[in-house]
Amino acid sequence: MSCTSRNHWDVKLSEIGRRTHNPIRSIVENIVCEPNPEKSMIALSIGDPTTFGNLKPPKEVIAAVQESVASQLYNGYAPSTGYESARAAVAEYSSNEFARVDPKDVILCSGCSCALDLSISALAREGQNILIPRPGFAIYKTLAGSFGINVKSYNLRPELGWEIDLDDLESQIDESTAAIIINNPSNPCGSVFSRDHILDILDIAAKYYVPIIADEIYEHMVFPGRAFHSLASLSTEVPILSCSGLTKRFLVPGWRMGWIIIHDRNNILGKEIRQGLHCLSQRIIGSNTIVQGALPTILKHTPQKFFDDTVGVLHAHSKVSYNLIKKIPGLKPIMPDGAMYMMVHVDLPNFPEFHSDLDFVKQLLAEESVFCLPGQCFDYPSYIRLVITVPKEMLEQACQRIGEFCLRHHKKTRGSQINEIHSNVIPFPSRPTPSRDIRS
Ligand SMILES: *Cc1c(COP(=O)(O)O)cnc(C)c1O
Repeated sequence: MSCTSRNHWDVKLSEIGRRTHNPIRSIVENIVCEPNPEKSMIALSIGDPTTFGNLKPPKEVIAAVQESVASQLYNGYAPSTGYESARAAVAEYSSNEFARVDPKDVILCSGCSCALDLSISALAREGQNILIPRPGFAIYKTLAGSFGINVKSYNLRPELGWEIDLDDLESQIDESTAAIIINNPSNPCGSVFSRDHILDILDIAAKYYVPIIADEIYEHMVFPGRAFHSLASLSTEVPILSCSGLTKRFLVPGWRMGWIIIHDRNNILGKEIRQGLHCLSQRIIGSNTIVQGALPTILKHTPQKFFDDTVGVLHAHSKVSYNLIKKIPGLKPIMPDGAMYMMVHVDLPNFPEFHSDLDFVKQLLAEESVFCLPGQCFDYPSYIRLVITVPKEMLEQACQRIGEFCLRHHKKTRGSQINEIHSNVIPFPSRPTPSRDIRS
């Protein structure tokens, strides 16, 4: 380099780096208080079902990956959108009588987050906006923000099982709206949309010609009596990029296997978007090939019993925690219909010491060593989110401690003794705290 006036190191963070924030991290990292050293830590904050070892992938899935490694057929690079055999397996797994998926419409990604990343970056330009749910998963904002895409939130209605406020959704759409993100079943709500509600959502998207990005990473994880309908199975008109993967349903978040399915029966997205998604997938040079090698077996041969058992545990856990929490003064749980979370309303005016859901969770951590994410992390103050994948006795113990905490701090019960409602809960033996960060 000949012509330069540089005479010292001056390395600065790029604009993209500067614009990329994870709101959960920034809220939670500000929680400086320590858990109560006398009580074992119970983290109801971690959205990773494998953390406590009570939920594991089925042996068929483990064997499939072992075989994939041993075959030595998957050590090399795959095409950036994935091997044909793996994409064909996803196409078959995701097809139903209403929506047939072709392998060429499948793009394998490094987890569902990567699928969302590619979908958002293919559909929206800097300065445009995408619509996201409130409360909602924080990553939508993180991804959009780093691309300079604006987000506008549409409200969900807790009193209606977290259905979308359709008038609000409609009113948020403007000339610059590039896509609507729909998350069903929902993190953090655990809600599942009815067929009719999905049809109403699709009508709005069709009326304003806005494509949908469907975050369906919790597909089929619905409790008995509820049904999962994918957005794409109910529309022939609206172009939909469906994002899903193995992460939650197969209990393997670390394997980083997700996918996008392009549903575009009327060829509205056209060659350009499809080509764009293919090019974007080259940025990561494809997803994990070992898991791709195992994918046909995983998707075809996982026994139904495994899925039923997992959903059975989640359903049982949500009933247990719902029934314990509904008796606690100042708290109002909302029973989920699927996924692995429960939202609980905190009646803050009745807890005069706490000015926010964040204050509430901080003090709960300090006194009871129970940690939940504050609703703020999902743009929804006055709520807390509980993860219901933790072992049952741990969940019961956590609910009991939350109950004692609320009795101590609620305006009407302050000073009163522990209520007999919890006396049937078996004391929870101390366990070593998992070594990982409780705050992810
Ligand atoms: C967990 C989760 C994801 C991300 O899944 P990965 O496959 O781990 O990237 C996406 N959306 C929602 C709503 C989630 O809860």
